[in-house]
Amino acid sequence: MRVVAVPCLKDNFAYLVIEGTQAAVVDPSAAAPVEAALERAGVELAAIWLTHHHWDHVGGVPDLTTARPGLPVVASAKDSEKIKGVTQRLADEEWTETANLRAYAIDNPGHTLGAISFRIADAVFTGDTLFGAGCGRMFEGDPAMMHASLMKLAALPGETRLYFGHEYTQSNLRFAAAVEPSNRAVADRAAAIPAPSTPSTVDLELATNPFLRCSEPAVIEAALAHGAASREPHEVFRALRAWKDTF
Ligand SMILES: [Zn+2]
Repeated sequence: MRVVAVPCLKDNFAYLVIEGTQAAVVDPSAAAPVEAALERAGVELAAIWLTHHHWDHVGGVPDLTTARPGLPVVASAKDSEKIKGVTQRLADEEWTETANLRAYAIDNPGHTLGAISFRIADAVFTGDTLFGAGCGRMFEGDPAMMHASLMKLAALPGETRLYFGHEYTQSNLRFAAAVEPSNRAVADRAAAIPAPSTPSTVDLELATNPFLRCSEPAVIEAALAHGAASREPHEVFRALRAWKDTF
């Protein structure tokens, strides 16, 4: 399995997941860059996998499917009413399979109620749930829900590659440094951000992503200084997310 990141719009990533001559595309926000990437890779589009319903993740679906009648379009059952043309509606841990491409859904409510990640082998496509050193805003969910979704991803094996939906890593690391000024891993990561910064790994996020570090004493203290009402991880998370929203 091979993954190709496809920059789209201003800072979005779509991804081609390639097995042999077939590819699935994750979150095609626009059709043209995806078509160009398919052409460059010399592969045929076999499926569309959508992490959530936002326009900047599904905008390319109509053009891609019009050009390929019958193309599978896969999304979470909970988001499927909000996306036109979905052909398979996944529940938590349900598999989708097209050609040699086989992935399963990880329910990740919080950014949207129907947000999912797709896991295929040692790669996970996290959409707008987890970013490099950060996480998505809670448009539909609450802090306990979003924090639990992030903890689910954090519990995956450390070498798991995390392919996220936006290039926000640099600004996220500025926030991470404000939360934990003495975290050496944050400083090291900020000093050498690859372009693009996707993928990350679970181990790198555990070391540098403040939203996965809500039980760390330094993170708890920073959150308490920014409105956290207790040391409970989901309350620390709530305070960090609110702080980041205005950072
Ligand atoms: Zn989104």
